[in-house]
Amino acid sequence: MAKYGARGRRVMSETMYQEGPREACGVFGVYGHANASELTFYGLFALQHRGQESAGIVARTGEGLIGHTGMGLASDVVTPDELARLRGDAAIGHVRYSTTGASMVKNAQPLLVDYARGQLAVGHNGNLVNAGTLRKELEAAGSIFQTTTDSEIIVHLMARPFKGSFEELLIAVLRRLQGAYTLVMLTPGAMIGIRDPHGFRPLSLGRIGDAHVLASETCAFDLTGADFIRDIEPGEIVMIDDEGVRSLRFGSVVTAAPCIFEYVYFARPDSRLWGRTCHVVRKELGRELAREYPVGADIVIGVPDSGSSAALGFSEESGIPLEMGYIRNHYVGRTFIAPLQSDRDIKVRVKLNVMPEVVAGKRVVIVDDSIVRGTTTFSRVAELKRAGAKEVHVRISCPPTRFPCFYGVDFHAHEQLIAARHTIDEIAQFLNVDSLGYLSLEGLQKVCGGTPYCCACYTGSYPVPLEERVDKTMMERARRTWEKDTPASVRAAECGGKKRGAGRAKKGGAAEAAGGMSDLFGA
Ligand code: SF4
Repeated sequence: MAKYGARGRRVMSETMYQEGPREACGVFGVYGHANASELTFYGLFALQHRGQESAGIVARTGEGLIGHTGMGLASDVVTPDELARLRGDAAIGHVRYSTTGASMVKNAQPLLVDYARGQLAVGHNGNLVNAGTLRKELEAAGSIFQTTTDSEIIVHLMARPFKGSFEELLIAVLRRLQGAYTLVMLTPGAMIGIRDPHGFRPLSLGRIGDAHVLASETCAFDLTGADFIRDIEPGEIVMIDDEGVRSLRFGSVVTAAPCIFEYVYFARPDSRLWGRTCHVVRKELGRELAREYPVGADIVIGVPDSGSSAALGFSEESGIPLEMGYIRNHYVGRTFIAPLQSDRDIKVRVKLNVMPEVVAGKRVVIVDDSIVRGTTTFSRVAELKRAGAKEVHVRISCPPTRFPCFYGVDFHAHEQLIAARHTIDEIAQFLNVDSLGYLSLEGLQKVCGGTPYCCACYTGSYPVPLEERVDKTMMERARRTWEKDTPASVRAAECGGKKRGAGRAKKGGAAEAAGGMSDLFGA
């Protein structure tokens, strides 16, 4: 634990101003209910914290699968008119924060396609770490991509020639994917739920009467009146149709490594994740933090909302009273952008307002769930000191985030993570706090218990090795690289222009890759 007086020294760039980690996506689905689309809308509403950039629903109607997607919150995208159009007895939905592919309407999900076996809709939460390789292979074999998401790769793999049942095809496709993927799919005959063999992202199965429900988090069951049945296992496919629920396995459970940061930050506190309610786990993280980094102080305040449960635990364990130091403006979305950049602290104040009567003259402990770039925490500490706090101590309910996430969480690049480049003492100095304490990895794992979790953003030990550079713009970058590195004559030939070089390009690229796909699919 580092101790510093109020010296206000700034050791890092003030241009580092960014909110904390962004969630990946949320998925929801209902099979066998007359109000499937309406229930899916409410399910997305409950999962809105997992993604606010775009939303969409695909429903099984009398005219087959039809869908609607758009930019913004579920309540903006899915209007009452759209819901009426989507009326059907089965539906899947998706809310998105882009972790691969730009934020644009063509990348909104669920993706809906017609292919040789009929119609297929897919909603994906997570990141494929071999997306670049797969996309190159598919493009060389003739696939034409409509989006820049890694999720579209799954659709194209499903469309490859294959002499087997739908289930065999699905398993063959899933075995080609590496990385994080929780999927909900809809065909005219079934709804399908899938978790990758590591089970990075959650997915649970529930029931409303005779209808079955899938959701990223159980808070969506509460809103839709569904009863929780069980979590989908890592490496499991559940096929839900008119006959009921069937389970297929395509991966070994020994590889399971669910994301521990779902417990720390992502999931809603009222969600039951892998058998435990997040609020209860976070409160215990706060207790452990108080044991590891005790401090003499007058009040504890949590950073709403994700730090609130840990602050309660810290207060109970330390005996320091919990206070409401911050008031949150609930009407500001997570994607708020200040129209003018003249006051960099406005972004912090517009969301959280400090109450001077509560903090003035007090020794204050702030409990939060993470520090990513450090600039937001810096502004929060400055606000507390401006409001008259005598001392400010910061406690974080997880270890320092030192490594980027490649499995569906937008933790920014390595160079933007403050803990990747600075010691805890340096971070404390930058934040201008009187002390700083992070929960240890051992403490975090002890509280979360049970399963061996993915902790790669703290340890750098990645459960799925990275074969290629993975980031949000990898698909756009692949296109730009191809344009830059490919001679104009070959580009023109490949794009259907001049014939010169076309044969050579086909032989070296498409034919080879098509051979690879044939081998993989036994076609
Ligand atoms: Fe979760 Fe961190 Fe692993 Fe990403 S790297 S899956 S955020 S624990």
